[in-house]
Amino acid sequence: MRDWPFELPEFEPGWVWLAGAGPGDPALMTVATWHALRFADVVLYDALVDPRVLDLASRGAECIFAGKRGGRPSCRQGDITDDLVRLARENRRVLRLKGGDPFVFGRGAEEAQGLVAAGIPFRLIPGVSAGVGGLAYAGIPLTHRAINQAVTFVTGHDLKGQVPSRVDWGAIARGSPVIVLYMALSHLGEISRRLIAEGRSPEEPLAIVAKATSAQQRVIESTLADCEQAVVRHGIEPPALVVIGEVVRLRRQLDWIATLAGQDKEPGPDVQYATL
Ligand code: SAH
Repeated sequence: MRDWPFELPEFEPGWVWLAGAGPGDPALMTVATWHALRFADVVLYDALVDPRVLDLASRGAECIFAGKRGGRPSCRQGDITDDLVRLARENRRVLRLKGGDPFVFGRGAEEAQGLVAAGIPFRLIPGVSAGVGGLAYAGIPLTHRAINQAVTFVTGHDLKGQVPSRVDWGAIARGSPVIVLYMALSHLGEISRRLIAEGRSPEEPLAIVAKATSAQQRVIESTLADCEQAVVRHGIEPPALVVIGEVVRLRRQLDWIATLAGQDKEPGPDVQYATL
């Protein structure tokens, strides 16, 4: 393959690059992240980083798992930052690789703060966040001029694993026609009930996009009232995104992956149009 024709930054020893790997499909990582993988001496990666992305690390690179699975901390956050600092002080080129974008619900900010406090030079490489790339692969636009002028990204989990108490669900219900929930599977029932209590229609369309942009991607269409049961009925497992709003209806027209696959668009096991 031809080398990238524009200048890319030099990955200098002693630096940490905090990079997004995109939502899954390796084609969705940035050129800068790809470049970082080729030059890193050590790669600390999250659970959400697709193995096909890691395969692009240089042959001599050490790849270390530093993630969390299913909300359970496999590695303490402070330990990860300490590792980044230690490895950088060993004068290695340290790539911290995260799913999606490092600054979107990804603790990239905390890690960057740790690097600043330790005086370690770093660079931030953004990535395609799952809420953007995953919805694109589900054929659901985040905005459509005729439907919504705002979209809100919300986490369904706070630091303690609860429904975030500082989220003003009333304001979101009134002000955001489209809502994208990250990490929300386990609290979907409670969140949907709050949105309905704050005035959203129980019949409002909602989609759940699991393992987005991977070969195992599944998209389930449901409604606010039905979504909790839909998760159980379909055995949906994380990682999954939830998108709420009228834009979900556009999927019937815009499900380009189904078109590519030559599937007809009648309701199938993973595509429930019946409730809409
Ligand atoms: N920094 C990441 C988000 C990390 S939080 C980003 O920008 O995408 C982890 C949550 O992201 C998961 O619980 C899920 O809600 C969402 N997520 C990440 N990758 C996903 C994928 N491939 N499919 C569906 N959801 C995903």
